[in-house]
Order: sequence, then C-alpha cells, then structure tokens
Amino acid sequence: MSSDPGSLAPAGRDASVRDRGDACPGSLRLHSADDGALARIRVPGGILTVRQARTLADLARRLGDGELHLTSRGNVQVRGLAEGCGAELADRLSTSDLLPSPQHDRARNIVASPLSGLDGRGRGDVRAWVRELDRLVCASAPATRLSGRFLFAVDDGRGDVAALDPDVTLVATDAGAALLRLGSSPAAIAVPPDAAPLAALLAAEVFLAAASASATRVWRWHEVPDPAPLAAEVRRRLLARGVDAHVATAVAADLPEVPEPAGSTGSNGSTGPAPGIVPAPDGTATLSVLAPLGRLSASRWLRLASLAADDGAGEVRLTPWRGVLVPGLSTATARERMAELSGPSGRLDDALVTTPESPWTGVGACIGRPGCARSLADVRSDVAATLGAGGSSGASDSSGADGTRVIGGGLPVYWSGCERRCGHPRGEWVDVVATGAGYDVTVHGERLGTALVGPADLAATVAAARTAVRPDVSTRTPR
Ligand code: SF4
Repeated sequence: MSSDPGSLAPAGRDASVRDRGDACPGSLRLHSADDGALARIRVPGGILTVRQARTLADLARRLGDGELHLTSRGNVQVRGLAEGCGAELADRLSTSDLLPSPQHDRARNIVASPLSGLDGRGRGDVRAWVRELDRLVCASAPATRLSGRFLFAVDDGRGDVAALDPDVTLVATDAGAALLRLGSSPAAIAVPPDAAPLAALLAAEVFLAAASASATRVWRWHEVPDPAPLAAEVRRRLLARGVDAHVATAVAADLPEVPEPAGSTGSNGSTGPAPGIVPAPDGTATLSVLAPLGRLSASRWLRLASLAADDGAGEVRLTPWRGVLVPGLSTATARERMAELSGPSGRLDDALVTTPESPWTGVGACIGRPGCARSLADVRSDVAATLGAGGSSGASDSSGADGTRVIGGGLPVYWSGCERRCGHPRGEWVDVVATGAGYDVTVHGERLGTALVGPADLAATVAAARTAVRPDVSTRTPR
C-alpha cells in the first residue's frame, strides 16, 4: 500500500487480542460435535441450482444425520458426519461446484437480498454481482486469509442484508450505481455498477493487508479502530484501476423506507421474506417458506428442489433468515404447491412454515442436546413440545402494546441450552435458557419464569413475554 492504513489493534465489540486462528467450520475443516462432525457449506447469495440442492440432500442422507441445517448467513450445515467421510464430502461438493476453490472455502461468505429481481422491489437484480464477487474472491490469493467470519453483503437497495452487520456491503442505488460501505461506517464509496464486485474485493484485500501489518489478529471490519485510512486506500486502488470512485453520502440515507413484510427475524432483529406466495411483476410467483429452527429433513428439502425443477425456474434460494425461496412458478401452480407444502408432516418440527401466523415464526434455538455437550436440555424437542402444547412460544397472532397487529407472536424468542446463548438475536428478544432445573424466561431484563418445566407453563410464559411492554415504555407518561 502506498498509504499507511493504520494500526489494527482490535477495538469495539470483540476487543480481545487473539492468540489462535478462527475456528469457523467449513466444507474441509469439519467441526467436531457430540453428534458427529459438522460441515458448513458456503452458498454465496444463498443461490443453489437444483442439482446442487439435490447433492446436498444426498450428502446429508448418506453421510450425515439426514437433515439440512440452514444458517443465519444463508449457508447449509450437514451434521452427524461419520469419521473418515471428509474426502468423499469434498469430492462431491467439488463436482457440484459447491467447493470451487478449496483454499477459499471459508472465505465465500456472501449474503444477498433473497428476493432480488423477484418481487419488483429493490433496485434491480444483484445476482450478477454475487456471482462476480464470488469469482473474484476465489481468484484472489490474499482472500485465502479471510476469516470464516468475514461477511460480504450484496443488497439490492431494500436494506435487508445491509442490516446483517456485514464487513463489506454493496448497495444498489436508484441511479444504477453501487455504494460500497466498509463495516458500519456511514460514509460510502460510489462506484459504477460494473465495478461493484471489484470494489468489494479490493476492500477485503485492503483490510487483509492492514491486518497482516498489525501485531494483532482482527477478523472483522468493526474491530478496526480507525477505518478512515483504509477507506482512503480502497478508493486509491479503485482510482488506480480507472474506476470512477468517489466519496458518497451516508448509505443509510440512501436505503429506501420500504416496510418489510412480516417474516422471520434475523440475528440482529432484521426481517426477511415472509412465508407465503410472493408475486412478481412478470406474473410469476415465488414460494417462500421457513424451516422451523432452521432444520429441514432431506425429504422436505428434495420436495422443494423438485418444485424448482418441475414448476419453477430451476433455482432455490436460501435466506439468512433460515428460509427457502422457490421462484418462477405460475401463480396458479404456486397456490397449489403451497397448499401441498402446508399439509401435515409426520413430525411437528419437520413441517414447513408457510404463513406468518405460524407459531414457529420468530422462534429460534441453539442446537442443544445431543449435538452440544454443554447443553443442559434437548432444546429443540422442548421447543416442539411447547409449541405442540398449543400455546406457542409464539402466540400466533396478537395485538401489540400500541394496538398494532403483531404477527408471529411479537418479540423473537430464542431458546438456549446453556448460558452461552450461541446464535441469539440482537435487539429485543425473549430469552429462554435451560438451567438444569428447567428453563428461565427473561424479557426486557425482567425474569418472568424460573425453572419452568411443563410445556403448558412454558408456552404461557413465553407467549406473555413476547408481547410484554418494556417497563420504560409502560411507565412513560404521555404528554
Ligand atoms: S448455547 Fe450452550 S448448549 Fe447451546 S450450542 Fe451454545 S454452548 Fe451449546
């Protein structure tokens, strides 16, 4: 670099000096869990061909526990892998183009607006940016050093994935350009659309160069104490390549105020596509479903893949909100297929969420027993039992404190097998934690239940917590 991008002593939320590498799992670096090994397969933009989707189902059935686990970055995990299956897993993924560069396996963390180009909202179809960014990442030698936690977001202007705390964000603008945002900086660099993927890659490379010059390990952009010199270096590199890059106004101000439909809640409280049928301006429709607790049986998954092949556009999209989209159906066919998908399955937690009113909407959980040795409970079974008790950790449809309709039961709920609360949402949420004696239920810092065991008690307490009014709101005197 010609300019000094500054020291990268970690700062902010993860301000610890790290003495070990990032342990994020991948397709090649498997994570050892109590229920076997776990592979995390990156799916840039969440976009899968039917063939790729079928390969994943086959791998889950033959090598894993028979289920596909969706992540909060639109990736897929296969759990319960037996020892010694790594070579076969890697080979199958490679031949399906799910592992295009082994060296970049864990660097391909790219989320994209799932409904981009499908619902007439946003500012265009950003899939071409996703594909090109993925290609550039896989061709970059420095990018092999990206942490498995580093996240690219490609937002079509609706602001959904831009809200997922990405490290490098591309946002489509009304003017047909792209804004490049670095971390959570309100400033941005405007670039022409055909340079957007390159700008995102250069931003990551500048970050890596500064990180390697630093004595400490930083994995995320928000750990950079002073991002301004890095932003200047990114712009300098773009200009050196002949890209018309200029400092732009705040990205937040350029994101449209479009109310999101009620959907699942992400790890930061943002929402994704609601379950249901999403009409497209061209007269086609997209099926939108959610996977309860992010888990789908291979048979359910294969049904969605078959719909994509037989009735849709041959594509399946995974969302960072643990949903699946099947685009390109006729409206009439979409209605028929959604009715079929809404039908009962053999197991409560293997049903698909097809309406926002489902009690599963807004409910999340860690893996719990038997997958995690730390867990004090079989969390997922307990969630299913609680929902089956009729209540719902998600009161299905209720009124909020201000009288507005609360879909999916109000606040998100997150169930944890221990105090670590892996994967919990940010913002306001209902905290349900196993203690060994039962579950404690907390909302707005107030304990509503202690050592609850019975599904009916849990259902009632969690439902009350989801619509509880913040104490500072309820005690505020109107003027
Ligand atoms: S919250 Fe606790 S029980 Fe759940 S996955 Fe994390 S460590 Fe395991």
